[in-house]
Amino acid sequence: MITHQMVDAGKFALGFVAAALLAGGLLFFSWPLESPPADDRALFGVLHSVHTRFSDGVMSQAQRVGELKRHYGWAATVDHDVRVDDGEWTALRDEARKNNVDGVFTYFPGYEWKGAAAGGSEVTVFFVDDGPQSKVDGVDPGYDTFDGLIGWLKENNGIGCVNHPARAGNAVDWGSFESDYEHYLPCVEMLNKVYYHWNDFWNCSAGSGCATYRNPRPDGSVWAGGVLRGLERGRRLGFVAGWDHHGIQGTPTAYTGLANPYNRSREGIFETIRARHTWAAEARIVMDVRSGTKIMGDAFAQDAPTVRIVYNMTAEAGHIISETSLFLDGVIVNVTKHSTKNAYGTSEVTVAPGREHFIFYEAVEDDGKRGWSSPMYVTYHVPDSPA
Ligand SMILES: [Zn+2]
Repeated sequence: MITHQMVDAGKFALGFVAAALLAGGLLFFSWPLESPPADDRALFGVLHSVHTRFSDGVMSQAQRVGELKRHYGWAATVDHDVRVDDGEWTALRDEARKNNVDGVFTYFPGYEWKGAAAGGSEVTVFFVDDGPQSKVDGVDPGYDTFDGLIGWLKENNGIGCVNHPARAGNAVDWGSFESDYEHYLPCVEMLNKVYYHWNDFWNCSAGSGCATYRNPRPDGSVWAGGVLRGLERGRRLGFVAGWDHHGIQGTPTAYTGLANPYNRSREGIFETIRARHTWAAEARIVMDVRSGTKIMGDAFAQDAPTVRIVYNMTAEAGHIISETSLFLDGVIVNVTKHSTKNAYGTSEVTVAPGREHFIFYEAVEDDGKRGWSSPMYVTYHVPDSPA
């Protein structure tokens, strides 16, 4: 009898809601989930985002898009290269194109390349436009090395960020590529899932206020591939964070922040990442690190040995910043304790002439979650001396 009265769609909906409420308020269906965007939402994104059923994940494309829109202002699609056939690649490109709304949710087409002749290293590649009609895989001859990938990205308006560089099975040989990497492989995951890919230990200089300690969250790791080794080899890298999610809905473990983005279009965010104007964090920690007019990720020369740095860190809602650490050439040279939502200050480091130095900040929250600004790459040229 009741079902006959429910031919009207409106009555049906009302009846359904009432039935659900009567059943104890268990609304097992839901309207589209629209969490109120936080002020900083547009800052944060993820490139190595969520794997779907196209490769080794469990979400549908629609579920991935819903999750990414809920947590981030920008993102890229990802799935494993050889698991994605031509038709699925077209579907991934469509997913990005149909859901991209510049400035609201900026969405890049991308996938995860695995270099068969690059030690199994993996790279999230993504494109400033709708992406090439066909992709190359890391098992394809000519595209199985970093240099092969770089050449292809150059021709297809793409760039790549190196994934989990210290993970056993995917460890990066930072000396194995030469060509134009700075423009086409400008970034690396400092954080993947919940693992820190920096190094096996955090090294502290005398008087810095810290003691050397082991990596609190190592992956099953080959540290020759760690981010520190890349920087020590003179690679200029920006830091990004990879969620690399394979499961059902959940709270992200990784956020990549944009420092002074050019704008919030695909082009603007793409070029901001290429310029290394990014930070990597485990929570929605906002980081601002600069020296004069230069910001995180910039490479520059100056004619004085002292680098003056201004930092300003804001903890995620409900948390405070407990510590900031200044890294010079991979070693902590200063630790400052804080107990405030918004921690800021200045610091000075003196650098030797004649070579490039890398300088960045780590911020630690009261819950132990961390963020890392992309390094500034600074050279001290002694005035009137040939450099
Ligand atoms: Zn992945």
